[in-house]
Amino acid sequence: MPYQLDNRPADLRERMYFPEIIRGIGTVTAHFLRNLFFTRDANPDILERPRGLGKSDNVTMFYPEEKAPYPPGYRGLHRLVPREDGKARCVACYMCATACPAQCIYIEAGEYPDDPVEKYPVKFVIDELRCVVCGFCVEACPKDAIRMDTGEHAPPSYERGAQWLDEKALLRGPSVNYQNDPWLRRAAPGIPADLLAQMKANATPFHTTATDEYAQTPGFSVRALAAEAKARAGRGAR
Ligand code: SF4
Ligand code: SF4
Repeated sequence: MPYQLDNRPADLRERMYFPEIIRGIGTVTAHFLRNLFFTRDANPDILERPRGLGKSDNVTMFYPEEKAPYPPGYRGLHRLVPREDGKARCVACYMCATACPAQCIYIEAGEYPDDPVEKYPVKFVIDELRCVVCGFCVEACPKDAIRMDTGEHAPPSYERGAQWLDEKALLRGPSVNYQNDPWLRRAAPGIPADLLAQMKANATPFHTTATDEYAQTPGFSVRALAAEAKARAGRGAR
């Protein structure tokens, strides 16, 4: 609940200052003693600590030793999602770079020497300092090839260059396989037959609706929003 502001003019006692100064010192001393010897307002949402005399019920988190878990919708550091054969799912289509409002994604496309169809990012660099963590790149990617599900934020560094994550640093995390992945459907030549069979067996159907996992934004659904807009337009037309 917001604080209620009391804008009445100061009364005589307040205009004399000293009674109010003494009252203020009393309030601070009371809080000091209560925090020193008794319990504070322990907020279980933040952290549970042992209570009691001599034990701190301080709700302040001792970061970085203690860390609060991030909420499920947290957009962490990017990662390039690998395929099961260790290569990037990214096909260097530039859609993420085009959608990026901060213009902080740099891509150079290359071709696999043994595959005349697929392309891959020879260079894929994200400047995490310029990134505004909007998640547009994740939403724009047609291949579910870039995610922000690492749960990590950009680590501190002394140099700007340390915040430029390239394709080697970005390619990590669990692999993802979909049944309609083109390299599975037409048996891309670079993938050994036994691995290809394994990848096909492990592949899951591609999402037909925007899901939390796919969109990385829990509760966000493009289709639901479009349906809502359509309904709104329908109501307006009547
Ligand atoms: S999160 Fe937004 S700003 Fe950051 S790289 Fe992706 S599109 Fe660009
Ligand atoms: S990460 Fe996705 S959108 Fe970006 S270039 Fe690769 S395939 Fe295209």
